[in-house]
Amino acid sequence: MFYLAEQFFSIQGEGKYAGVPSYFLRTAACNLSCPGFGARYEIDDEVRYGCDTYFAVDSRFAKAWTKIECASDLVERLKREFEQIGYLPHVVITGGEPILYYKDEVFYGVVEWLIASGIEITFETNGTILIDFDAYPAYASCIFSLSLKLSNSGEIKSKRLVPEVLRVIAERAKESFLKFTIDAKIIQDGALEEIQEIRDIIPDLQVYCMPVGESRDSIRKNDSAVFGFCMEHNFRYSDRLHIRIFDTTQGV
Ligand code: SF4
Repeated sequence: MFYLAEQFFSIQGEGKYAGVPSYFLRTAACNLSCPGFGARYEIDDEVRYGCDTYFAVDSRFAKAWTKIECASDLVERLKREFEQIGYLPHVVITGGEPILYYKDEVFYGVVEWLIASGIEITFETNGTILIDFDAYPAYASCIFSLSLKLSNSGEIKSKRLVPEVLRVIAERAKESFLKFTIDAKIIQDGALEEIQEIRDIIPDLQVYCMPVGESRDSIRKNDSAVFGFCMEHNFRYSDRLHIRIFDTTQGV
């Protein structure tokens, strides 16, 4: 059994596959909370701070999550949706943290069906949960977007950086790359050193940097600093197309 916060058809807005029409499965719950990203939201008259997908992280939103108890039910729904789309789109499994569910029978059943159907899967993960690729071999056929958190996430280093997890994914997955969410302040405060420490663990992976922000206004505050940072250090700039176009992180 696992929880979905939302599912929808859109275009990948970030990272290496930005611009690719993709069907999104956003699982609910995360093992981190990233208060440093400072996305302000209100629930039950209480002001809280978290990341741009707080609605898939904070269990106070659980009433809006859908419990998936049967793989074939979700597979049937996906078949209908793909038929309407008219082709088999790239599937992005994001969160929250989707790898929380990697051993779950229902979740793995859906992943196996997608792979057997020839569908490309990208996992958007914070890269902190060790995957047993021998016991769950379908994950070796997936792409991993390692959206690692730096100190600006507000998480302690021992929680957000687990070197063994990174080594195993880089070695076993068919493709993986690094994606960092940074702002003007962390660029001043040592983003390069933090990224370099991660690259020392997995030196061969491409690096994408994108601006912090849950709205057009907030990404606008950071985009030019991130743009310059990428030029200076030969990293790849990633915009956040869905926010730029729709001014939200939900349902697009
Ligand atoms: S790891 Fe990702 S989904 Fe989880 S709290 Fe941090 S930014 Fe949000």
